[in-house]
Amino acid sequence: MKIAFVSPEVYPFAKTGGLADVSRSLPMALAKNGHEVCIFMPGYKTIDRNKFGLELAYAPLPVSAGADTQWTALHKSGFIPGVITYFIDYEKYFGRDSLYDENGIEYPDNAERFSFFARAVIHGLKALDYHPDIIHCNDWQTGILPLYLKLFYAADPCYINTACVMTVHNAAYQGIFPESKLSFLELDTNNTAIKALKSAGSLNYLQAGILYSDVITTVSSKYAYEIQTEEYGYNLAVIFKKNSSRLFGIQNSIDHELWDPSTDKFLPAVFSAGSMEGKNRCKIELQKKFNLSEDINIPLFGLVSRLTYQKGIDFLADTMKFLIQDADFQFILMGAGDRRLFSRFEAIRNMFPDRTGLYYGYNEEMEHLIEAGLDVFLMPSRYEPCGLNQMYSFKYGTIPLVRATGGLDDTVIEWDEAKQEGNGFKFRKLETEEFYNSFRRLIWLKKNCESEWNNIQQNAMKFNYTWKDAAGKYEKIYSIARNNKSW
Ligand code: ADP
Repeated sequence: MKIAFVSPEVYPFAKTGGLADVSRSLPMALAKNGHEVCIFMPGYKTIDRNKFGLELAYAPLPVSAGADTQWTALHKSGFIPGVITYFIDYEKYFGRDSLYDENGIEYPDNAERFSFFARAVIHGLKALDYHPDIIHCNDWQTGILPLYLKLFYAADPCYINTACVMTVHNAAYQGIFPESKLSFLELDTNNTAIKALKSAGSLNYLQAGILYSDVITTVSSKYAYEIQTEEYGYNLAVIFKKNSSRLFGIQNSIDHELWDPSTDKFLPAVFSAGSMEGKNRCKIELQKKFNLSEDINIPLFGLVSRLTYQKGIDFLADTMKFLIQDADFQFILMGAGDRRLFSRFEAIRNMFPDRTGLYYGYNEEMEHLIEAGLDVFLMPSRYEPCGLNQMYSFKYGTIPLVRATGGLDDTVIEWDEAKQEGNGFKFRKLETEEFYNSFRRLIWLKKNCESEWNNIQQNAMKFNYTWKDAAGKYEKIYSIARNNKSW
């Protein structure tokens, strides 16, 4: 198949979250399976053009934007193995210091920026004479693409055999804009388009993507179910439910080469399921780095996370305040985001400095050491479309304690003491009592049941779901999309 993968962020060129990792790993895995795959993304100013070997692919490329035609260019890079990545250059929209916002304030022309991106991709594929079988869109930034394609290019020879897939990585971000943007989109007199875009008195890019793609996917089975409820799907829950026959959940995987404790170059000592001694050294090193007392026996809990409401960090601060007074354990948090959330943990560290370690910021090397050195990784998320850290934790013999939501619920199998099966622990409600009890149970297990703990670790470390497995599932989805093609 010829697949054009369209994403607003792709690792290593530009990244704000897990979407960037998927946008690299999935196209690579599809290419390895024998498909012809290209990626399209905006040519942000922040991309290091020398490092990634960008070169001109096509110019000038005319793109309609508002009443005008804009002249842009396509650059390309072969940095991602097996795949050509194309960059849409347009200084006015992408020559900025950030991707979507600055200092927490969204760029006021995001509606224009990403409708331009969508149109430029459509024009770009035509200019390259690419004739894709599949255009795979990702998140609200690409939501308007399937709408434009079906309204204006259904009979175009380049797209005659093209089906669209829309993947929702996080339904909380929908691309909501005022109706006044319709004229820029050149859709203000098109009733079909207005109907597809309008939601609760605004325009909603994600809604258009859902309605006008042939198949919708999201990044875990549980989340595919959850977004059909108001609690997780918000104002789009009804639309997800109505379209549930063409909504599928496919669990993301992880990069098994980068996240391998037996070869991890960031660790002071490597280890594997058959030889776990190195994990103890990682724990001591981690305790040193965070000025905690060096003690291999004290249970070490922690997390690496964006500091946001989604991740349940406020709930964790509330609970940790009591837990740390009542039980003997150490706790580490690394994160960036809401400073006020972080300062709540600083208050705890002031009281228990030898048992609390904090790091404000983003640090890839430290993330590896934390994954390796912890005994238990905490993920008290309010919602989690997929989640990556529980999967990294499996591989490093670090036991996840997670809220049973989205991809966390799908991947973490509750430890069953009788059968000695399972790879982690879950709690259901964001209520102190249940979390508190699970936490206390884990402290007890870690301190008193060494062989049981080893069994949980061994089970977790068997985790072997790969991007090749996920790509196989997407191939089936692509076939369904081509059979479903509704235009
Ligand atoms: P989300 O995309 O919602 O933030 P994911 O679990 O899908 O959540 O992916 C986030 C990734 O970013 C994980 O690999 C996580 O460990 C990493 N990460 C988050 N915060 C930091 C940080 N402060 N330093 C290093 N890595 C981080």
